[in-house]
Amino acid sequence: MIIQPKVRGFICTNAHPQGCAANVREQIDYIKAQSPIDGGPKNVLVVGASTGYGLASRIAAAFGSGANTLGVFFEKPPTEKRTASAGYYNAAAFEEEAHKAGLYAKSINGDAFSDEVKAQAIEMIKQDMGKVDLVVYSLASPRRKDPKTDELHSSVLKPIGKSYTARNLNTDKLEISDITLEPANEEEIAATVKVMGGEDWELWLDALSKAGVLTDDCKTVAYTYIGEQLTWPIYGHATIGKAKEDLDRAAKEITSSGQADAHVAVLKALVTQSSSAIPVMPLYISLVYKVMKEEGTHEGCIEQLYRLYTEGLYTDSPRLDSDNRYRMDDKELRPETQAKIEKLWPEVTEENLFDLTDYKGYQADFLKLFGFGVAGVDYDADISPIVEANFQ
Ligand code: NAD
Repeated sequence: MIIQPKVRGFICTNAHPQGCAANVREQIDYIKAQSPIDGGPKNVLVVGASTGYGLASRIAAAFGSGANTLGVFFEKPPTEKRTASAGYYNAAAFEEEAHKAGLYAKSINGDAFSDEVKAQAIEMIKQDMGKVDLVVYSLASPRRKDPKTDELHSSVLKPIGKSYTARNLNTDKLEISDITLEPANEEEIAATVKVMGGEDWELWLDALSKAGVLTDDCKTVAYTYIGEQLTWPIYGHATIGKAKEDLDRAAKEITSSGQADAHVAVLKALVTQSSSAIPVMPLYISLVYKVMKEEGTHEGCIEQLYRLYTEGLYTDSPRLDSDNRYRMDDKELRPETQAKIEKLWPEVTEENLFDLTDYKGYQADFLKLFGFGVAGVDYDADISPIVEANFQ
């Protein structure tokens, strides 16, 4: 099969196995080129480990700290006729590289919200690692089936209180137009908190703690985005922001229960499969890329994660805010950086999109998420989409 990108709206429905593997190796090489993570984790569970920030968390733990890793994710396996999802290829490539390096790496491909997957993870930790000293919670999902009630909750990306009209870039048609988003009702807000809030993080820690598979000094971290003025109406002060606030509550609960030292980490805006689905974000991220690349402060997932480990999780002087969150969005939120973005924001048009913003970089990064546009990969080659993986 010749595998070329099939983009539909804000998703790409296929993925290139060799391109995905090359991306994983590139992130591993980045970590290997840094100093080892002093005092880093040894046995790690990463929930949401196959793409974006979770994959980078796993790579940084394994190759920066020699950690054994168990990864949990929900990805589509390949068939003779269809490629796998990118995360499937990423995880297979990660395991292969980890095994070559002599590191323990196993994965569960299943619904992390379910009791079954939690029980399976606990059994594997007991059998293979004994206990874990770091649990990374990096899920991004549009829906969640409550394991207690079987009810399916769907999240919404809507403002709260009043409607919001914003400039939006349609990445399919390259059109910039105003979109108006109607405010969420109470039910929608509650459902979004159910899906993206802290409840499932707490359920994981509770189950792991009751099973006795957390070390006494275990740490746990969940990821959030806060942003600034331009994104607040659709992110920080919107339904997703409300759900993310619930992570702060959960972190306090987990820490005070003595299960683990829990923190929320605030990461920067980046193109991932999840962020590309959020209105306003593609245009904002294209501007962030433009300004931060010019400033020399641009970072991808792996750079952010290396800093989270070395400047947050594994240092005696972490950069914490007043809500006890690790701040890795410091460079994005510098007032002078935000001022430049805010100045450019109203000036962007369809005509000057490629000059005023780094939409080119955004597009390239978006395709790269699915293994396309990666140097050294022959996209005209006829290859099999089948990659063997030993996921549970
Ligand atoms: P992503 O879409 O790249 O990764 C999501 C991961 O969750 C994948 O591994 C996927 O397989 C897994 N997943 C989804 N549903 C699952 C399920 N039911 N069971 C098991 N696994 C499941 O997303 P991302 O952008 O890396 O987001 C990860 C976290 O980082 C989220 O909490 C997100 O809010 C946060 N964050 C993202 C950004 C950004 O700009 N992308 C910025 C700051 C914080």
